[in-house]
Amino acid sequence: MGKALAGTDFNELIKPASASGRARVESLTKNRKKILFVTSELADLIKAGGLGDVSAALPRALGRFHSVRILIPGYPQVTGSDHPIEVICDLDGYAGLPACQIGRMQLSDGLTVYVVLCPELYDREGTPYGDTHGRDWPDNHIRFARFGLAAAALASGEVCADWQPDLVHAHDWPAGLAPAYMAWQGQQTPSIFTIHNLAYQGLCDLESIPELGLPEDAASAEGMEFYGKLSFLKAGINYADHITTVSQTYAREITTADFGCGMDGLLDLKARRGQLSGIANGIDECWHPESDNRLIQGFTQHEWDGKRANMRYVEETFGLEPSGGPLFVIISRLVYQKGLDLIPQIAEHIVAAGGRLAILGQGEEQIEEMIAELASRYSGRIGFHRGFNETDARRMFAGSDFLLMPSRYEPCGLSQSYAQCFGSLPIARRTGGLADTIEDGVTGFLFEDGTAASFSAAIERALHVYRHPDLLDAMRCRAMVAPRYWRHAAKPYDKLYRNLINQSLAAPVAAARGPEHGWQA
Ligand code: ADP
Repeated sequence: MGKALAGTDFNELIKPASASGRARVESLTKNRKKILFVTSELADLIKAGGLGDVSAALPRALGRFHSVRILIPGYPQVTGSDHPIEVICDLDGYAGLPACQIGRMQLSDGLTVYVVLCPELYDREGTPYGDTHGRDWPDNHIRFARFGLAAAALASGEVCADWQPDLVHAHDWPAGLAPAYMAWQGQQTPSIFTIHNLAYQGLCDLESIPELGLPEDAASAEGMEFYGKLSFLKAGINYADHITTVSQTYAREITTADFGCGMDGLLDLKARRGQLSGIANGIDECWHPESDNRLIQGFTQHEWDGKRANMRYVEETFGLEPSGGPLFVIISRLVYQKGLDLIPQIAEHIVAAGGRLAILGQGEEQIEEMIAELASRYSGRIGFHRGFNETDARRMFAGSDFLLMPSRYEPCGLSQSYAQCFGSLPIARRTGGLADTIEDGVTGFLFEDGTAASFSAAIERALHVYRHPDLLDAMRCRAMVAPRYWRHAAKPYDKLYRNLINQSLAAPVAAARGPEHGWQA
C-alpha cells in the first residue's frame, strides 16, 4: 500500500523543505475534509474481490487531500489481526438489531479503522457474506443493517465527537443502509453511494421492516422496495446524495435494461439529474513488477528473466508441462458473471496451439466442478487450484502471457489492470471497465459478444502476436504503462466530495427527510 499516503498523519509524514513544496502541501491540506468510508471489505484484513482492493487503496490515495477513516464489521479476520482494537463507544440495540460496540484500530501506516464489534453477528468463519461453502448467512439483513446504523451513529458524531465526518462514502449493498439511516434521522451530512456491482442487491423480505427499525417510507418504491422485497442496494441509490460507479462505460450500461438488473429506470433518472457518475478504479502502488516482494523474481520492461522465473513457478504449482508455449491464466471468483462457461469451448483451441492454462478461483460449485473436470481431461495442459491465494495470484499475473476475462459484465475489473502491470495481456469481453481499460490490439484484446466463436477469434489474434516476439514485446511494454494508479485516479473523488460538502452547506436538504418520516430515535 502507498505508505506515504496514509490518511491520518499526512502532515507528519510530509514536511517539504522548500517554500514551493510547503505551499503545495499547504494548498493540498487546506480544507481537508473528514471522510468516512463504509465498506464490508478491506484488503489489509479481509477481501473477497475488487471491493477489498478499492477500500484499501482509495482512502490512502485520498489521504493527500483528506482525513479518511474506514468503518468495517468486526469479522474474526479483523478482530484477530495484529492491530490492537480500543473500544471507544457502546451503541444500544435498536428494534431487532443487537447492541454493539465501536472499536478503533490503527493500521501500520496510520490508517484509522473503526470496527463494529458484535460477535453474535460477525464472529463467524467464512467470507464477509457467507459460510465456508459460499452460502449466504440467513441473517445478512440484520448483520448489515447493524453495520449501516453504526455508520449513521459515527456520522452523527455520537461515536467520536472529535472526528465527525463531513461526508460518508458507502460502498455496495452491505453499506446501503448507511445513507438511508442518515436520511431518516434527518442528518445533514452528505453521502455518496458507490455501486461496485449492481447485480448484488442485498434483498430481504418486506416483513423485516420492524426488525430493522425502518420507517414506513422504506416500503415504498421511493424508498427501498424492489419487486416485493427490500433492497439494501436500492436504499443506497435512493437515499445517498450522489451515486458513483466504477467505470464510465458501466455508468452508461446500468441505465439500460440489459445491464440495469431492474434498476435501470431509477438509475437513468439519477443520471439525467446529474446524480450518477462513473469514476474508473485505479490500482494501488503495490502492483509493480520490479518491487513486488511476493514475486519469485521481479522484472522490468527491459529484462524479462524474472517473468520467466514466475512462469516456471506457475508451471510447477499447477502441474503444467513446460512446453514453451504461451501461458494463459484465470484468477477470478468463479461465478456466472465471469462468463467462464465459455472456457470448455475454447480449451481445445488453447491446447492445440501448444498453450497451457492455469486457473485459480473459488465460487459456485457447478463452475468449480466444470473447471476441475476440464483440468483432469487436459492434465498437464490445464491446471486448477480451488481457493483464494493472493501470492499465487500475483505470481500468475507476473508469469503469464495472457489473462482470460470473458465476463458477461464487468463494472470495472481490476485483474486486467494487474495483468497489464505485470506484462500479461488481457483477452476480455468489451464491456464495462474492460472496455475502458484495454485498448484492443495495443494493451490487450477485446471481443464483442459472449460467443465462443468471438472469444476464440480474440485468442487467435493473441496467438498471432505471441508468434511474433517483437509484436509481443511491444504490446507488453505498452500494457505495463497503461494502468492508472490511484494517485491520479482518486482526483475525481476529491472534486466530488468538495462539491457535495459545499452544496450541503449552502442548501441543507436532509431536514426534509427526518423524523417526521417515522424515524424513532
Ligand atoms: P470482482 O471484484 O468482481 O471479484 P475484480 O477484477 O474487480 O473482480 O477484482 C478481483 C480481485 O480479486 C483481483 O484483485 C483478483 O486478483 C482477486 N482475486 C479473485 N479471485 C482470487 C483468488 N482465487 N485468489 C486470489 N486473488 C483473487
